[in-house]
This record gives sequence, C-alpha cells and structure tokens, in this order.
Amino acid sequence: MSTISERIQQAQNRIQQATAEAKRPEGSVTLLAVSKTKPAEMVREAHQAGLSHFGENYLQDALDKMAQLADLPLTWHFIGPLQSNKTRPVAEHFHWVHSVDRDKIAQRLSDQRPAGMAPLNVCLQVNISAEQSKSGVTPEQLPALAELVEQLPGLNLRGLMAIPAASDDPAEQRQAFARLRALQQQLLVKHPGLTTLSMGMSNDLEAAIYEGSTMVRIGTALFGARD
Ligand SMILES: *Cc1c(COP(=O)(O)O)cnc(C)c1O
Repeated sequence: MSTISERIQQAQNRIQQATAEAKRPEGSVTLLAVSKTKPAEMVREAHQAGLSHFGENYLQDALDKMAQLADLPLTWHFIGPLQSNKTRPVAEHFHWVHSVDRDKIAQRLSDQRPAGMAPLNVCLQVNISAEQSKSGVTPEQLPALAELVEQLPGLNLRGLMAIPAASDDPAEQRQAFARLRALQQQLLVKHPGLTTLSMGMSNDLEAAIYEGSTMVRIGTALFGARD
C-alpha cells in the first residue's frame, strides 16, 4: 500500500503530464486535496508532503479538523452543498467557497463574513449536466448571479466550478468541461477576475486540465476510498 506522500507524488505527476500535453505553463493547475471524511492526521501528513489547499464538504467534520490543525498555515475550501442555515460558520472559517449557486447563499455569506477578514473567495457552481444534479446555477441564470456576487462587499468573485455527470469516456468528459470553460470566456468580458476553473476530480483530472482547469479537486486518489 502506498503512503499519502507517494500518492501525492503520483497525482502531481498526472497533473504535470496533462499540463504539458495541453501546452499550458507548468504550475498553472493547483492541487486541491479533498479531505472530507478523512482524519486530521491525514491532512497533516499531506501538508508535510507539500500541500496547502484542502477541500471539505461537511461543516462539522471540517471545523473539527481546522481546530486540530490550527498550527498549520492551510487554505480551506468549502466545496459541498451549502444550506442557508449553515452559511455563518462557512463565512467565518473558510478562505474559499466553490458551491455558491443562488442569491440567498451569496448574500448571507457576504453579510456574515467578519469585517476583519479578507473577502471570501467564491466560485459559482454551474449545473452543466442538467439531468444529473440539483446543485448548481443554470447557465441561463449564471450572468445574474455573477453580477450580484461581484457587487457584494464580503465576497471576491474568483471563478466557476462544476461536477459533470460521471463518465468514463474521455471525449464526453472533455465536452462537459469545455462547456464550463465557454461560460467562463463569456463572463470574463464583464468579470476579469473570474480566472479560476475548479474542475476535475480523481477520475477525470486529465480531461479537465486539457480544457483549462486551474484547480483540480482530488480526494480518492490521495486519501483512498471513502466509507
Ligand atoms: C468528493 C468530492 C471531490 C473529490 O472526488 P474524488 O473522486 O474522490 O477525487 C471533488 N469535488 C467535490 C465537490 C466533491 O464532493
């Protein structure tokens, strides 16, 4: 069985190779380690192996780990579905949220971001495989949501995120990621700060990088299967 640091090296090799194949600059893709359901000790090990960005889906699980790892300079990303009654701790403890998909959530996160902290970095989650998931703003509603987030003082609009319908077909994977990239290109005219494309997971990170991903969210390939 390989150690976490070996798995991180393997994932970084995959990222580097795909980045080179896509003729993109080395280092243009950030590895976001998805540590949901995994213990704080694994996050500590991953940090010792060089990672600093961690993604979490479950609020209490995340807050517990943050408390145990408060001695480390980590950047925490909330990537899971967000209910409006859970926005306050997210606004108070995270650096990024990737799953903003409606006005009410955006408004609350902005209002609840503590005054002394930098604005919360936000990616808008887009539903690019409409039949698959209920999370994510529709492509039609996306421009209005981007407009709102741009104006909220507690938020910093950084990019788009998507979780396409699962597929083992690389061509199909790329088509979905290309749709997110096309939406980003349209929005960039009005929102020049929208430079992050949060797309690609353990099974499809290559397809995502070929289509312009700047942040891949990798769980299983680093920490093993989840229960
Ligand atoms: C769990 C999760 C991931 C990681 O998926 P893996 O297939 O384990 O790499 C990425 N993004 C989101 C939003 C997730 O919920």
